[in-house]
Amino acid sequence: MTISENISLQPYNSFGIDIDAQYFMELNRLDDVVALREWRVNHDLPYLLLGGGSNCLFTQTFEGLIVRVNLQGKALVSEDDTTYYVKASAGENWHQFVRWTIEQGWGGLENLSLIPGTVGAAPVQNIGAYGVELVDRLHSVDVIDLDRGEASTLDKAACQFSYRESYFKSVSQGRLLITAVTFALPKKPRWKIAYAGVQQALEGKELTARNISDTIIALRQSKLPDPTIMGNAGSFFKNPIISNNEWQNLVAKYSNLPNYPQADGSVKTSAAWLIDQCGWKGHRQGNVGVYKDHALVLVNHGGASGQAVKTLAEDIIRSVKDKFSLVLEAEPRVF
Ligand SMILES: Cc1cc2nc3c(=O)[nH]c(=O)nc-3n(C[C@H](O)[C@H](O)[C@H](O)COP(=O)(O)OP(=O)(O)OC[C@H]3O[C@@H](n4cnc5c(N)ncnc54)[C@H](O)[C@@H]3O)c2cc1C
Repeated sequence: MTISENISLQPYNSFGIDIDAQYFMELNRLDDVVALREWRVNHDLPYLLLGGGSNCLFTQTFEGLIVRVNLQGKALVSEDDTTYYVKASAGENWHQFVRWTIEQGWGGLENLSLIPGTVGAAPVQNIGAYGVELVDRLHSVDVIDLDRGEASTLDKAACQFSYRESYFKSVSQGRLLITAVTFALPKKPRWKIAYAGVQQALEGKELTARNISDTIIALRQSKLPDPTIMGNAGSFFKNPIISNNEWQNLVAKYSNLPNYPQADGSVKTSAAWLIDQCGWKGHRQGNVGVYKDHALVLVNHGGASGQAVKTLAEDIIRSVKDKFSLVLEAEPRVF
């Protein structure tokens, strides 16, 4: 295993920000953890576990070690009357893994098609799309505690999943290296197609995992910019979850404010709607901007700095706060 110095992170982040990491290594085998732990003993510097870099924004040179997790492998590990248990290593490309499960005839992950990134990062923010979250299909997560050098397996409850949150974000971030994820895929999937636009697009088609996946891919391609063409990190802001009181106050003023009631009585509203109401959609500020078709997506029009993206995000947060008294939270990690 080699540790390189002064490596540009441009190929390793979906914003396409050209910024250096002081040290960089690829973790290709579980044995590489030994070298990583040795490096930590000898260097008093931060390190970052990186998958596809599609949920990270780099605003300055990373003065530490980037560990690109590249562990490969996927297999059916067991099955019972109702479920296939499928395990994938952390460095597997998420979308290719989803399509592979569909090719094997295993449904369950089709709604999560075309989300960029790796299998290992998927539990970190409990990825979700089109009415399905990772938690709905997850069985367990294999980890190595990099402080103690111990391997263990966390079941679903231990992962403490909620909307874009998990245990992996709350324990000192990065201490747990996710090495593999096991999925529980139902043998008789109950398709989730009620989400806006999906049902209409599927009209006249047979309901199969492949057809649902193809439909979701087409919908996503029509709405979101391709990061290989226009740098971005998908939704830059989380949808705010507010108390029922806050909701009542806001809806009295803005009767068409979108609302998704939550089980605990709180209300999730739409960050995209709030940003759109402040007039940001399509706005361009130098080399950065808000995507013309989606107010949640900040884009790099080419050659942008991470700092410029961060400044735009801060401007948006300020204007939403001034108008609605709500503070938007960034979804990607900002360094
Ligand atoms: C066009 C576009 C569309 C998107 N759409 C969606 C969407 O619909 N739904 C959604 O939820 N997200 C979406 N995202 C965000 C992103 O794809 C997900 O968050 C994805 O899971 C990030 O994967 P990654 O490998 O790129 O993670 P990275 O950006 O590399 O890392 C993200 C976090 O995970 C940690 N991490 C990565 N690998 C490991 C590991 N092996 N062990 C421990 N920690 C690790 C990192 O330290 C970091 O904190 C979108 C992004 C883009 C660019």
